[in-house]
Amino acid sequence: MDIQADIMDHYFMEEALALARKAYEEGEIPVGALVVAKDRIIGRGYNQTERLNDVTAHAEMIAITAAADHVGSKYLTDCTLYVTLEPCVMCAGALYWTQVRRVVVGAQDEKRGFSKIKQPLLHPKTKLVTGIMAMESQELLLKFFRELRT
Ligand SMILES: [Zn+2]
Repeated sequence: MDIQADIMDHYFMEEALALARKAYEEGEIPVGALVVAKDRIIGRGYNQTERLNDVTAHAEMIAITAAADHVGSKYLTDCTLYVTLEPCVMCAGALYWTQVRRVVVGAQDEKRGFSKIKQPLLHPKTKLVTGIMAMESQELLLKFFRELRT
């Protein structure tokens, strides 16, 4: 295992978690995402489906759009996307089109996660890393849904 890469992954996942907490504070399902190029954050997003009344306003979609705008290209081939919860099928599909180099995931999504689909959805060039700070991401989601029920 590459220790340096692992440290950076935790560092950026902490940043993605901060975005998830922001979503939480705004009454949105707490998911945060960011896109990193050369150890710099070039796109941020958190779930805003309620505020924007838009089912496509997932954290990943917003972060991808911001990053593409930043690099001036629809491709994110030299980038890493960090997301606190496993992408859904829609977001995995969008990530395919970006040809993003790496996708780093926090918690697994047992219900809507893209890995439930048998067909590989990410681009063949994309490297997938899972389980980075999964507990923290999961905790925040559980807290949100617990409060929603009470
Ligand atoms: Zn999604």
